[in-house]
Amino acid sequence: MPYIITEACIGVKDRACVDVCPVDCIYEGEDQLYIHPDECIDCGACEPECPVSAIYPEEDVPENLQSFIAKNKEVFDSNTPPGRPNK
Ligand code: SF4
Repeated sequence: MPYIITEACIGVKDRACVDVCPVDCIYEGEDQLYIHPDECIDCGACEPECPVSAIYPEEDVPENLQSFIAKNKEVFDSNTPPGRPNK
């Protein structure tokens, strides 16, 4: 069960999470950062680093943010997938 980046990241993209991810599986999209669901090892390091609390383990994503589970997955299949974060 990967971690998921949700709505609070949109327009913020603080990137503090990027620095602590041991497997570099956090990518930058146009609007927000995304965690690659197949690369995330569920270590949990990113969650407390987010200043806007946008990150949740998949099983704990609040009801009103459930659509972000699919969004974090599908964005990597798009024609313009997220790339390496701009630091
Ligand atoms: Fe990276 Fe760990 Fe966060 Fe997954 S849970 S995105 S591996 S820091």
